[in-house]
Amino acid sequence: MCAPEHFGVEYVINPWMEGNVGQASSSVACRQWRILHDTLARQADVALLQPVAGLPDMCFTANGGFVIDTRFVPSVFSVVQRAPEVAHVQAWFEAQGFQVLQLSQDHPFEGEGDALLWPSDEGSGLLWAGYGVRTGLQAHRELCELLNLEVISLRLVDERFYHLDTCFLPLPDARVMYYPAAFDEASLQRIRSRVPAERRLEIGHEDAAGFACNAIRLGSTLVLNQVSEALARRLRAWGYEPIVVALSEFLKAGGAAKCLALLLAQESAAQPSSRPPLVSPIRNAALEMQGHLLDTGKLNSMLDVISVAGGSFTIDQLRAGGRRDQPSYVRLSVSAPDEQCLESILERLRGHGANVAHEVADARLVEVRAPGVAPRDFYSTTIYPTSVRVQGQWLRVQNERMDGVIVVSEEAARHQARCVLMRDLQVADRVVCGVEGVRVRTPDMRRAEAEFGFMTAAASSERRVAGAIEELALEMRRLRARGGRTVVVAGPVVVHTGAGPSLARLIRAGYVQALLTGNALPVHDIESNLYGTSLGVNLRHGVGVEGGHQHHLRAINTIREAGSIRAAVEQGILSGGVMFECVRQQIPYVLAGSIRDDGPLPETVMDLIEAQREYARAIRGADLVLMLSSMLHAIATGNMTPAGVHLVCVDINPSVVTKLADRGSVESTGIVTDVGLFLDLLARSLCPETLD
Ligand code: NAD
Repeated sequence: MCAPEHFGVEYVINPWMEGNVGQASSSVACRQWRILHDTLARQADVALLQPVAGLPDMCFTANGGFVIDTRFVPSVFSVVQRAPEVAHVQAWFEAQGFQVLQLSQDHPFEGEGDALLWPSDEGSGLLWAGYGVRTGLQAHRELCELLNLEVISLRLVDERFYHLDTCFLPLPDARVMYYPAAFDEASLQRIRSRVPAERRLEIGHEDAAGFACNAIRLGSTLVLNQVSEALARRLRAWGYEPIVVALSEFLKAGGAAKCLALLLAQESAAQPSSRPPLVSPIRNAALEMQGHLLDTGKLNSMLDVISVAGGSFTIDQLRAGGRRDQPSYVRLSVSAPDEQCLESILERLRGHGANVAHEVADARLVEVRAPGVAPRDFYSTTIYPTSVRVQGQWLRVQNERMDGVIVVSEEAARHQARCVLMRDLQVADRVVCGVEGVRVRTPDMRRAEAEFGFMTAAASSERRVAGAIEELALEMRRLRARGGRTVVVAGPVVVHTGAGPSLARLIRAGYVQALLTGNALPVHDIESNLYGTSLGVNLRHGVGVEGGHQHHLRAINTIREAGSIRAAVEQGILSGGVMFECVRQQIPYVLAGSIRDDGPLPETVMDLIEAQREYARAIRGADLVLMLSSMLHAIATGNMTPAGVHLVCVDINPSVVTKLADRGSVESTGIVTDVGLFLDLLARSLCPETLD
């Protein structure tokens, strides 16, 4: 122990300290500490460490290092304020003749605060170790291999319980007491798989906040700051007598009984010397990434991905772009509690464009056994340009799209990698599995994401919408001039809002190279041209027409009688509208069927797999995809479109626009507005000469 002569809350390094700077009294603390000391001294030998002025937290000796038999492992503090304590603690242990074992100085480890031995009668104790707030996972791996001790890693998810000893108390007879809300689900699983229910004591928030787990066990007594009557009863049933020592002054700094003492002799410490060397299940990878990492918040999201998935990280190198237009570079070391967790982290980070640094492994290829079924751990593609490493060569994947698998084949002694849909897999196809040997390049997303930011804001002002339309009109003019391809994906709302003629004008003026839609848009477009209504509503006056509800069925029947939309145009039955312009301008269209379709029209493709194929064919080579008020068709198209194509999604519902962004289609612009107004403004800008 170390007397709190210089104790005080002088900075904030945990949530308990917030609002308490300058509020802790060293004299009250000394009185409370003395009672704790005397209580312990009645049952144990207490050795004292000399307090040092300027180190107000040195009284929390549990964090200075970890002792196992005659060996001492000094801490590597993650918080700079406490780092100077280590030299004093280490000097004491050296003077006492302990063997000092150093961990790597690159990874934080906060001593017994995050490393608790589980007493065991057989002498093969194991270490419960915390990570996620202070200590890093990499330290667990080093402890396992240095001490030849099994380590069970538990991730702390509540900053208030920043050390394992604040929320977890291992007890003899394979029992534990802990506060479940302080851990992530995977860690709770690890506890449950080791400790049967009758040996687990889960405590509630009130006891946890009073630091009941932060107890010192001496034989059958537990010395602690606070314990509820209910918990005391449960502890007594297990044969423990709780002794309460009020330590309120130390709570202001986020510590209590257990933090104030470091165990010098651990009961179950001795490890059988004959035990073969243990290998830690913890896995590491070095990742690197370049781009607008800071101004887009991308680095933050990546680090969150690692933490939320249960990993820990250190940033080995970070080079910030000096100017607004310059990219930044980061190199990270990522650790995960096991191989599976690392793979899942890497897979998610791939989606953000992070690549394994100095990748030297080839991609792992596994043969398909049953048609249409991928090997279990197949790599699932994103929309970004992807390469795979095969026999030391990086191959660019062909036919990229998201939610596919990568098949590597060999033709004329040359390897090829292509993206294939799971249902198209053939027996003996070789599929890329895992994330090794896969490299993904994300585009510069600064501009795209910024635009998304303002467009998805529920209240995007009309002026901003008008500005976005002007920008789009400029892009469409340029595309038309250079023979580029614009594909329009549209739903029937286009016709209901009266914007059919605007879309028809754009087609007539050569701004659209393909139309992807369903059954409904052509039905209502044809209805409006034959009867002047859309779903029976007069488009000029916006009122329902007597008997109008039959119009769309009559329109379908007319086209079925003619044989096709094309035939109806050729026979002079259909003389205007979106579909008429498509036929006249020879613009290909794909009508993908759905379960709610009436009719359908003869050209509606009711085989969905065939419809997906036709959509994918139509998108090939597109520069711009304009998605107009069809959630169904917009999301379907977003999934099939490779990176490098500008997607513009117009919908009145912001969540549809956001959904598109969530699918990873990042080069997207979202415009939250009425599609009727949008098309009217766009057509006015692009083809004013054709206005009625
Ligand atoms: P959807 O729900 O996928 O998309 C409609 C989208 O339009 C929604 O996202 C909505 O927010 C948006 N929207 C509504 N009003 C808007 C406005 N004024 N401005 C901008 N956006 C607006 O539905 P869908 O694409 O219309 O239809 C899905 C499928 O059902 C299609 O295949 C379609 O052909 C079929 N369908 C068939 C019939 C028919 O055959 N009679 C009728 C309707 C739909």
